[in-house]
Amino acid sequence: MAGKIVMIFDFDRTLIDDDSDRWVLTNMGLTHLFYQLRSTLPWNFLMSRMLEELHLQGRSVYDIAECLQQIPLHPRIIEVIRTAHALGCDLKVVSDSNEFYIRTILEHHGVYNCFSEIITNPTVVEDGGRLRIFPYHDMASSHGCNLCPPNLCKGYVLEKIQFSISESERKRLIYVGDGRNDFCPTLKLDAQDFVMPRMNFPLFDRILNNPMLVKAQVHEWRNGEELARILHELINNISNEEDIKCLTTNQLNSSECNNEAPASANEPLTVVTD
Ligand SMILES: [Mg+2]
Ligand SMILES: [Zn+2]
Repeated sequence: MAGKIVMIFDFDRTLIDDDSDRWVLTNMGLTHLFYQLRSTLPWNFLMSRMLEELHLQGRSVYDIAECLQQIPLHPRIIEVIRTAHALGCDLKVVSDSNEFYIRTILEHHGVYNCFSEIITNPTVVEDGGRLRIFPYHDMASSHGCNLCPPNLCKGYVLEKIQFSISESERKRLIYVGDGRNDFCPTLKLDAQDFVMPRMNFPLFDRILNNPMLVKAQVHEWRNGEELARILHELINNISNEEDIKCLTTNQLNSSECNNEAPASANEPLTVVTD
């Protein structure tokens, strides 16, 4: 019944303990320029300007990729991603980082293919080798949400995910995040869903200060190990609850319970002979 679970992860300070933008700035010698320009540009444009600077300095996308590959991903998080995927959970990333950074890091740790979608700011590598970041939303027309930065409303993304799930295959959502911009999607979760804020980070504080606005069950975590442990527990608990629901409803409608996890590619096929 893990096939009834959709896990949605923020990326920076959630899947990875660090912040990918900060990591590139610090490790590629851009801190000084960053502080010079910080107050003059919105975050997204500032990051694109930093990448332009790297290009001007003759640093290639391969140099940037090499830098990103040094970012650690907690071994317990790698393990829970693989387990959840193998059990049939649908895993997605919703992040205000960018496509190139996230793909490079997840591929390096061998878990990129465990995710069905990476929803983030798109990137292109131009002919000259310069990496460019574009906003997720068209900046010319506002997304109309005053909780989120202009380039990405994660609540809009969450609603799109909810609308894509038909009523008959109702799923349980688990949203994991740390930041201010994770509050908007948190407000869209239903009572049977879960939100996992990182303890003492901005999302946690916002939930703490607005408990009446949050319908989902809240499970806070402090580090990769704790996050992985709680995710394992939630997968088990939700699977058991859904199994019990099936047992009680299957006299009424046996098709309800046919939503099993897909067989792993590594499992031998059962050959039926007569
Ligand atoms: Mg974050
Ligand atoms: Zn929003």
